[in-house]
Amino acid sequence: MAEKGKDTMEKLVSLCKRRGFIFQSSEIYGGINGFWDYGPYGVAMRRAVEQLWWKTMVEDRDDVVGLDSTVICHPKVWQASGHLDKFADLMVDCTQCKKRYRQDQMEDPSVCANCGSRELTEPREFNLMMKTYVGPVFDEEHVAYLRAETCQPIFVDYELVRNVSRLKLPFGIAQVGKAFRNEVTPRFFTFRSREFVQMEMEFFCRDDGAMEWFDYWRDQRLRFYTETLRIPVDRLKLHEHDKLAHYAKAAVDVEFAFPFGWGELEGIHHRGTWDTSRHEEFSGKDMRYFDQERNERFHPTVVETSCGLDRMCLALLCQAYSEDMAETRKEGQEQEVRVVLRLPPVVAPVQVAVLPLSKKLNDDARLLYERLRRAYRCEFDDGGSIGKRYRRQDEIGTPFCVTVDFETLEDKAVTVRDRDAMTQERVPLESLDRVLMDRVFA
Ligand code: ATP
Repeated sequence: MAEKGKDTMEKLVSLCKRRGFIFQSSEIYGGINGFWDYGPYGVAMRRAVEQLWWKTMVEDRDDVVGLDSTVICHPKVWQASGHLDKFADLMVDCTQCKKRYRQDQMEDPSVCANCGSRELTEPREFNLMMKTYVGPVFDEEHVAYLRAETCQPIFVDYELVRNVSRLKLPFGIAQVGKAFRNEVTPRFFTFRSREFVQMEMEFFCRDDGAMEWFDYWRDQRLRFYTETLRIPVDRLKLHEHDKLAHYAKAAVDVEFAFPFGWGELEGIHHRGTWDTSRHEEFSGKDMRYFDQERNERFHPTVVETSCGLDRMCLALLCQAYSEDMAETRKEGQEQEVRVVLRLPPVVAPVQVAVLPLSKKLNDDARLLYERLRRAYRCEFDDGGSIGKRYRRQDEIGTPFCVTVDFETLEDKAVTVRDRDAMTQERVPLESLDRVLMDRVFA
């Protein structure tokens, strides 16, 4: 990673910890690699992003419905999906002669049987599936897996969901939830974690129109990043895959310019009829769709949109992180570096902060806060100088601070401070709701 990118990431990681967005899981025990906890602001932001996705993909549409399946499902699901066949063993590489071993087959696990070298890599688990046991007996019969992707249960439940929703092709099923992968090299903060949240939508359609749906969903998803999340177009790119899975007809990734380089946010995949056919083969249940009008039975073709919520949040944080110079009252200094998260108001963990200039104004300010919190994510902050409070709100990305001062009692107006423009504007209380509404949801 270039120095500048490294520097930005270090600053962001430190801000996320300092302000309680994201920090290492089990930190008091030294952390656990690839696992991250979201603190109060992180969770508020992550929920906001998730809700925007859900609204766009499910609530605003008539042709997509939701599902919330379990993390653990029947192990055959992962046989059918092909996950269990791939990367199944612990492997050790000899760094000298490059011979690779399955660790459980090595006679002496500390010496390379080929060249005698002791320069062996640590054993690496290549099966990305996280294994567990269901029930009190810990043997092979009771092995189960934490899902490696949220889409498989969608395929498994597809017929049930279609039936209860009385949907006809084309239609989609969406799910948000945890996925687990035993990543060999977790890195770049939350970018590659071992536990993360996926947001996936599987769109079932006829094969003859599937490429048009693929193009449609690619465009829709790109619009989500640029219009809903306000990510500038030049920080995004589409990467078309040349090598496709044997069943797939097309695949494109949406990539974002992270400080450490371009990284995948989302994949849009044309999966053919692979999923329902495979689950039919392994379960013995007919997974075909019956088209009444044409009197035909067939496996629907699937177009998938699959993204990671944590990566989306990381992209938003990287995009938002900035530093500028701002006036200060610190002794001997006129200006100081201001760290500011320029998050779009729709995803900011706090959208409006209510700040009484003096504790004597707390009662009035609290009344206003109670009113505003019905419409926005709000915070009430009466601690420290007003300058410090503004800086704090800047660091957590609060787009608007509403300050209640002694004049408020007289002129029935408050000061609205804009995070980005740093302007302070007197707004009458009676028009405050409209002014904020226009700006937060602009
Ligand atoms: P990569 O090539 O980066 O490993 P992938 O192609 O395996 O990703 P998919 O299986 O298509 O990813 O998963 C869909 C989405 O889930 C990805 O675009 C990404 O946003 C998210 N995702 C996948 N793996 C991880 C991970 N280890 N940590 C966080 N998010 C992930």
